[in-house]
Amino acid sequence: MPKKTIAAVDVAGKRVLIRVDFNVPVDGGTITDDRRIREALPTIKSVIDRGGRAILMSHMGRPEGRGFETEFSLKGCAERLAELLGKPVAFPSTDCVDAAAGAAVNAMKDGEVLLLENLRFHKGEKKGDPAFAAKLAAYADVYVNDAFGTCHRPDASMVAVPKALAGKPRVSGFLVEKEIKFLSETLANPAKPFVVVLGGAKVSDKLGAIETLLPKADTILVGGAMAYTFLAAMGKKVGISRVEHDRVPDAKRIIELDRKMKVEILYPVDHVCSTQFDEKSGDIEVFDDQIKDGFMGLDIGPKTQTKFALVLRKARTIVWNGPMGVFEWSPFKQGTQQVAKAIAEATKGGATSIVGGGDSAAAVEKFNLAGAMSHVSTGGGASLEMLEGKKFESVELLDNA
Ligand code: ADP
Ligand code: MG
Repeated sequence: MPKKTIAAVDVAGKRVLIRVDFNVPVDGGTITDDRRIREALPTIKSVIDRGGRAILMSHMGRPEGRGFETEFSLKGCAERLAELLGKPVAFPSTDCVDAAAGAAVNAMKDGEVLLLENLRFHKGEKKGDPAFAAKLAAYADVYVNDAFGTCHRPDASMVAVPKALAGKPRVSGFLVEKEIKFLSETLANPAKPFVVVLGGAKVSDKLGAIETLLPKADTILVGGAMAYTFLAAMGKKVGISRVEHDRVPDAKRIIELDRKMKVEILYPVDHVCSTQFDEKSGDIEVFDDQIKDGFMGLDIGPKTQTKFALVLRKARTIVWNGPMGVFEWSPFKQGTQQVAKAIAEATKGGATSIVGGGDSAAAVEKFNLAGAMSHVSTGGGASLEMLEGKKFESVELLDNA
């Protein structure tokens, strides 16, 4: 059921409480990637341009939940947002629900923007505490969920706050609308051939996604460290590659399922290997089927890159989650880069391409190909859970369109 969006609410003169996801990466106080802030701009602008009062709330990181901690302050986000909007953003207090915060909300004028301090400075946020939620709900005439990266979590600001606001408009923001459109609606009825690319660090993270996508996909391309658990399950020599031994039975089960279904799963046929898990030290060699003892696979090899690219070029729908190798290190970035290029080409030719996963999104950014994809999700865990077909209470309880 499509959800009502903020576009359908008359916000003039109203206090609009917007849950955003400003959980951005910070290094020594500097925001290293502001994509999540930029992606929230359409919703914020829509509210203030129509004379609404935008009260923003977010979490960042994992503070203790016992009050203010400088390291996890959203102050830097308020400053960055002010730059992006070209207007002041009030940041009234070190506590999202104290008297100073409440007074600042009450004093807001139409068209103004205010950011509350990190919700997770209160334990009640993670606990979904209704008493904490009631204090936040008291700020609002309208509730907006635009925090896609947090939609899979039943935190107070995601679930208890909109529950407390029953009877008032509770809608999605434009980012959440866009994410759902791609991750859920496109995949409900994908144009064929539908190709899924899975990689990354751990097979255990991606099992749910594989099993959900198995009956829908035409081809699944498996790369990254997770491929080695499958190759080990097939009895191939994987050297000292990363294998999750406790997942070998799961891998065997999926290999069996594949035999019974129409879907084709392709695994790497060659590997860029090293003797060390390091960018610079270690002997690098490429092996075909069997990896020599003492070597670990850190990227898909050139034959695999060509094979995967051929499949991708014919695809009409592509979902990609998880890099093909340790793309952060230049000797092992080729596989991920070539797959990204092939997906970009397919997209140019009319395919719909969706990239989910924090590291996969970082990879397409690094290769300057984010703009060449139909959609790069801002949610890591949330996009994966959506690919697994899970329903989110935070979204379900919003008003239907
Ligand atoms: P995403 O965040 O896109 O879901 P993951 O978190 O599952 O992706 O995995 C990303 C990580 O996997 C990257 O940091 C990458 O270095 C690592 N990785 C990929 N291939 C290998 C490999 N063959 N061996 C070890 N690590 C790998
Ligand atoms: Mg990751």
